[in-house]
Order: sequence, then structure tokens, then C-alpha cells
Amino acid sequence: MSSTAKLVSGAKFKIIYIPFDHLHREFGALKGADPSVDVIAMVESARMTTGRNWHKERLFFLISSARHFAKSLESEGFKVEYVKAATTIDGLDAISGKYPGLPIICAEPSSFRQYEALKNHGVTFVENDFFLTSRSLFKSWADGQKSYLMENFYRKQRVRLNILMEGAEPAGGAWNFDKENRLPPPKKYEGPPYLEHARDEIDAEVAAEIGHTLTTTWATTRAGALLQLKNFIDNHFAEFGPLEDAMTVENWALHHSLLSPYLNNGLLHASEVIAAAEKAYKKGKVPIESAEGFIRQIIGWREYVNGMYWFLGPDYRENNELQAKRKLLPLFTDPSATKMNCIKETVTDINDRAWVHHIPRLMLLSNLALVTGTNPQEFLDWMREVFIDANEWVMVPNVIGMGVHADGGQMMTKPYAAGGAYISRMSNYCKPCEYNPKLRTGETACPFTTLYWDFLDRHKETFAKNHRMSQQIFGLNRLSDLPELKERALEVLEGLDKGII
Ligand SMILES: Cc1cc2nc3c(=O)[nH]c(=O)nc-3n(C[C@H](O)[C@H](O)[C@H](O)COP(=O)(O)OP(=O)(O)OC[C@H]3O[C@@H](n4cnc5c(N)ncnc54)[C@H](O)[C@@H]3O)c2cc1C
Ligand code: SF4
Repeated sequence: MSSTAKLVSGAKFKIIYIPFDHLHREFGALKGADPSVDVIAMVESARMTTGRNWHKERLFFLISSARHFAKSLESEGFKVEYVKAATTIDGLDAISGKYPGLPIICAEPSSFRQYEALKNHGVTFVENDFFLTSRSLFKSWADGQKSYLMENFYRKQRVRLNILMEGAEPAGGAWNFDKENRLPPPKKYEGPPYLEHARDEIDAEVAAEIGHTLTTTWATTRAGALLQLKNFIDNHFAEFGPLEDAMTVENWALHHSLLSPYLNNGLLHASEVIAAAEKAYKKGKVPIESAEGFIRQIIGWREYVNGMYWFLGPDYRENNELQAKRKLLPLFTDPSATKMNCIKETVTDINDRAWVHHIPRLMLLSNLALVTGTNPQEFLDWMREVFIDANEWVMVPNVIGMGVHADGGQMMTKPYAAGGAYISRMSNYCKPCEYNPKLRTGETACPFTTLYWDFLDRHKETFAKNHRMSQQIFGLNRLSDLPELKERALEVLEGLDKGII
């Protein structure tokens, strides 16, 4: 893909740098780009490929998507300089060397680190329009809030973007249908077959380079991402809402859209997903609880999380308000290091596909990190490495704020801590498990149940000031077996550290 062709230096000629999460022809710096005057720069940096213990599926997805995108730009007539270099800046230097004097432009990068690096390199930014809410618009909302409740932001989004509105009222007569969306998994639930993505020579080349065994789970092209969107709208959207929180060993995706990787690397834009969803709802193909539930994820949660990342600043990721110091438990990297069925199944799923849905991320993985007092930054680093959709802007608020409450409640008013009863209700993990979700003491007590109470007890002074935690603290104060429970909690924590619980 590299070229030594010379372009005349002049104001209208420019280098357009495309990071691997800006892969859309109509957004970012490519909007209005002209193949006759613009040179495209893409850099596969060693920091990105070998810098960390990245999940191979994730690495494969990001690199193969970028190479396919580069090829599509070449087919359109662009001169594409796709280079491998130690760092992004080294790569850009090498490309600039071929086109002396040409300015480099890029859409505002999606992380603080890349923003600083490119700014210091003299790159000119255009606004990042990969989201529906600009960073400045979000800031003006957040500046006016006492607490940054997502629900308040979401309602404003519905009105501002005029989505699911009937005049000034929300469609269906309510803003939120969460109560209808909490069904446990039906017995022996199969659901429609998963969409499989065909592979081509670019995929094979990338897989060989990084030592990855090809799977068919994730698309690496815009056409594939559009197929995934269509598959969701046609086969899953109607049932998305009610089963949104359910977990089952029989079906790894249930009716989740599997769109986050494409939304996050640019192969799909949020406006395209919303347009397809609204169209299906207006045609009467999906009930309001599914339409609202899904649209809230995209125009609410996704936009809110990105807004909060930029609003809270670069130091936010270092928060550790609960002083959690435990090293990352071995079970996160090795599912054979635990007898907890829910965690074993979830980590195995991650190893297989680099993805599990929202509830295992929140109520299993993060919940476990929270109640064991695992260091938030170690946990965050692991989550960043293993998930297919893990960009910095989205993982940091989700883990630090929502997952492990390390920000002292800046994002969420209370921690998402739960015992085995919740997991037992929302999944079919517990039946074959060695542990009993109903027990909090004794050798067969569910580690989640024991550690939930132990966690509340360890932080009871902090939580006593939080009126949203008063019910839990009331429950803690009524426990008659707290001394026994504390003893069992110590055994459980030691056992988890050793990989034998
Ligand atoms: C601890 C934790 C870590 C997470 N890490 C990531 C991450 O690295 N990348 C990521 O994209 N999502 C992350 N999420 C949010 C959510 O779990 C995933 O977006 C979702 O599971 C992706 O699968 P899906 O596309 O099938 O989503 P669906 O359930 O079909 O939802 C539709 C879309 O809504 C958006 N969305 C929903 N919730 C969130 C949220 N909390 N933050 C941002 N977008 C949201 C996503 O774009 C998703 O594709 C995390 C959540 C938690 C609790
Ligand atoms: S009993 Fe506890 S550890 Fe076992 S699957 Fe249920 S919640 Fe997980």
C-alpha cells in the first residue's frame, strides 16, 4: 500500500490521518475528502500490536478492519500510506518524510493520551463527530447538574434528537420501560442462529501475522457490520428488551446486538443504528419496551459514557476511593483457577470471543472485583486487554465509575454489589455450581453471597452517609452470623488468591 508518488506541496493538499477507531468514510476527517488531493495515513503501531497482552481476537478485529478500510479507500482512488512503526508518531514522521510540507489533519482522537500526542506533533484537529453529542455540548449539560444522572441526560437526548417522541411526550407514554425488561432466561433457550462472518485473504494474512486462529464471530468490513445491524433488527430487536439482563449457558449473546465493536471502530455510526431502530419501531415490528431499551443504550448510555470520559478528565482513571489493593485474581486469566461456575463460564466465553454482554461485565466480573477489593487499575487493564470493544473512553468510566465504584460515586449513586441471589435469579449458572447462592457461611456458601456482606461491613462507615444504601446497611446490621461470615470471607479471599475457590 505504500507509495513513493510525489504530490505537489500546497495548501489544498493534506495528509489525513485515520486512527483505527475512525473507520468511516462519511465522518471525521474523511468527510468531504478528495482522492485527487488528499493522502491517507494509517499507522499500525507496535505499541498497539505488541504493547500489551491483547486478546488475539481483539487485535485481529482491529487490524483486519483497518486493512480492509485502507483497501476500500484505495479502491476509491485515494493514495493510502499504511505503515508499521514503533509508535503512531514515528509512523506519521515516516509518511510526512515522503510528502514534505503537507499538513496533517485528523478528527479529534478518542483518548486523552492520543489527543496529547497528536496535538504535540502539530496535527490539526477537526471535530470528532463519531458521537451524537459533542464534547462541548455534554460539558454544558454536566456543568448544570448536581449529580450526573444518566436518566436526566437521556431524556434531554430524546427531546434534542427527537427520537421516540410523540410531540412533547415520550412514545408509549413513559421514558423508561426497565421494569418490563428484567426477565430471567427461559428454560433451554436456543434463539435464532448466530450470524457468521465469511473470511477473505486480508483476514487470513492478519491472522497468520499475529498467530490467531480464525473465527467467524466478528465482521472486519463495513459490509459485514451492516449485515450484523440487519441481523439484529430482523431477528433480535423485538426480544432485546425483556431478556436484556438474562444470562444463560445455552446462548452466549441472547438478543444483544453485538454492534459495539463496529460502533467503536467506526465501521458503523450511531446515527445509522438509530435510524434503523426507529424505522423498525415505526413499522410496528418491535414493542416499545425493546425499542426504548435499545435506543437508550445508544443515545443514552453510550453518549453519556463518552461525555463523562472527557468531562471527568485524564486523572479519573486513577481513582481508588475504596482503597482496593488486592492483586488481580488468577481466575480472570485462567477459568480453571475457580470453581465458581458463573465466573468459569464467563471467562471461558471471553477467551473464546472477547465479548460477554453487559450483565456479566457488571454483575459478575466487576461485582467480583468490587467485593473482593481488587485494585481498580489492575482490573481495568485486564478488561481493556480482553474485550473486543474496549476503547479507553468507554472502558474507563464503565469500570472505574459503574463497575467498581472507585470514583466515590461521581458517576453512580451506589455501588453495583450483589450476592448470589441476583445471579441465581437472572441466570442458569447456579444449579450445576459447587456453591449455594442462598448460603453465606460454611464451605458451600456462594462466594458472592459471603463477600457481598463482607464488603458492606468493610465499608459500612462510608456507605452509612449514602441514603441509597440504607436498606443494605439495615440488612447488614440484622445479620446474626456476622462473625462467622467474616471468618468465611477471609477463607474465600485467600482461596480466590490461590485459585482454589
Ligand atoms: C464494566 C463494564 C465494562 C464495559 N466496557 C465496555 C467497552 O469497553 N466497550 C463498550 O462498547 N461497551 C462497554 N460496556 C457497555 C456494554 O456492556 C457493551 O457496550 C455491550 O455489552 C456491547 O454488546 P452489544 O453491542 O451487544 O450491546 P447491546 O446490549 O446490544 O447494546 C447496544 C449498544 O449500546 C451501547 N451501550 C450500552 N451500554 C453501554 C455503556 N454502559 N457504555 C457504552 N456503551 C453502551 C453499546 O454501543 C452497545 O453496542 C461495559 C459495561 C460494563 C459494565
Ligand atoms: S452459586 Fe454463586 S458462585 Fe456458583 S454460579 Fe451461583 S452465583 Fe456463581
